[in-house]
Amino acid sequence: MEVEAARELPKAVLHDHLDGGLRVATMIELAAAAGYSDLPSSDADQLAAAMYQGGSGSLVAYLESFVHTVAVMQTAAAIERVAYEAGVDHHRDGVVYAELRFGPSLLTAEGLTREAAIEAALLGLRRAAAETGLEFGLLVSAIRQDHDSDEVAVAAVRYVGEGVVGFDLAGREIGFPPDDHLPALRRAREGHLTPRRRSRRDRLDRRRPRQGRRPAVGSRGADTRRLRDQGR
Ligand SMILES: [Zn+2]
Repeated sequence: MEVEAARELPKAVLHDHLDGGLRVATMIELAAAAGYSDLPSSDADQLAAAMYQGGSGSLVAYLESFVHTVAVMQTAAAIERVAYEAGVDHHRDGVVYAELRFGPSLLTAEGLTREAAIEAALLGLRRAAAETGLEFGLLVSAIRQDHDSDEVAVAAVRYVGEGVVGFDLAGREIGFPPDDHLPALRRAREGHLTPRRRSRRDRLDRRRPRQGRRPAVGSRGADTRRLRDQGR
């Protein structure tokens, strides 16, 4: 199929890293603004080649490229811009629903709070959505090898209903099992950010009022009451 024809087909993106997929030109501009001089190159083509990890086959090598992207995303304005551009770029690729994920704790090196990082990402995505009609969901990631997953979950749950639709464990997998993060996973589940794969329909339904969304228990309770009412 031709690339142009594929671009026009409506698509859903369910796994994309907001903090790992910047426009190259944006990365260079943000690095200059932040005084970050460790980019592999300040030439757009060379930087793109250096950042492309699609063929590396190594999760660790792939994750190392995030050092540079998160280094230039340490302000609310930078995060907002990156999120906005990600939304616009997805729309241009024919995406109608995009789920983007990022680790807010990686963006706190210059003093931002996790909440401020989440709010900036939501702001950018909402702006893109308003302009393009893109539907989006934001997934908040805690980093497996760090020790703040519970705090990340607390921050994520605060934005349920405002665009945050999921909680995720990211980072190195070998040696860093999800069991290390059970309190965070429980908190996310209790906050209606069930950390498992969900259908798009589930995610859209999440926007409805939260009451009664616990599947089996809630609906069975309602049915029982209705039957009882009829019996009287
Ligand atoms: Zn991923």
